[in-house]
Amino acid sequence: MAKLGDWIDPRPTGIYLPAADIWIDPSQPVRRALVTHGHADHARGGHEAVWATPQTLAIMEARYGPQNGNPVAYGERITMHGIDIRFVPAGHVLGSAQIVLEHRGERIVVSGDYKRREDPTCAPFEPVPCDVFVTEATFGLPVFRHPETHDELDKLLAALRANPERCVLVGAYALGKAQRVISELRVMGFDDPIYIHGALQRLCDLYVEQGVDLGELRPATGVAKAELQGRIILCPPGALNDRWSRRLPDPITAMASGWMRVRQRARQRNVELPLILSDHADWDELTCTILELEPREVWVTHGREDALVHWCRLHQVKARALDLAGFEDEDD
Ligand SMILES: [Zn+2]
Ligand SMILES: [Zn+2]
Repeated sequence: MAKLGDWIDPRPTGIYLPAADIWIDPSQPVRRALVTHGHADHARGGHEAVWATPQTLAIMEARYGPQNGNPVAYGERITMHGIDIRFVPAGHVLGSAQIVLEHRGERIVVSGDYKRREDPTCAPFEPVPCDVFVTEATFGLPVFRHPETHDELDKLLAALRANPERCVLVGAYALGKAQRVISELRVMGFDDPIYIHGALQRLCDLYVEQGVDLGELRPATGVAKAELQGRIILCPPGALNDRWSRRLPDPITAMASGWMRVRQRARQRNVELPLILSDHADWDELTCTILELEPREVWVTHGREDALVHWCRLHQVKARALDLAGFEDEDD
């Protein structure tokens, strides 16, 4: 008897579907790629042909130039050499998708990166019961339990109010996190202009073009110091401590990342105000999702695999760690 899921082949450079000669999130340029979302560790340039959601393709074009892209809308079904393929929302960043594969009466869901909590910038995670769930485990340790989003952002607003002469400088990755911080602040009723580093402009514009309301954004560069007092400014994490930030009015340095749970990471970046804000499932979201989907097997990738594999076995779910290379960089 054939082994469950043996028609997909997880390799260090990506998940390969031999029957259709196509890869999922390959780390090297390939002939045909399915791409779950636009983060650089999943979406690379240089593929001959790409299948992805229209939003992910737009992000890839903004980053890598024109793509030979085949847009696949959420829920649309395509067939490649007998494999049925669908993209369903993963709730991670704009356009992010889980890839649902059906073949030989088996259903495999490749989660890509995902989260379960609300995010005003993207469609919510859609649970799809399956035989094999290929899950990420970026925050796959019981110590990772993300706090409420708005509680974290309340800290930011409180620091701003308490320090009218200063500004709050928030480090946030350019794709997803920056727009989510802005959008959540808008949901909380913060209507002041938000100032952004030039490196965030293009993807913020793209989100707005795709229908995400970010309110009034202004460039943070070339603005008089006095205008920036009492303001929120966003920049990529790399700019938090560089020369650019020295011309700001005594910034309170913040960073929005799931890794801010780890004090040492906050210290490394001289972060005064760590904001634990993640676009990945935390431990409870990972385990609750597995219980909800009731897969026969769980394949774990992308992070701290061991604890989640162990948890699955304790809960009578077959599980194994996959050995995919090269993830994490801009994912937090
Ligand atoms: Zn990732
Ligand atoms: Zn990601």
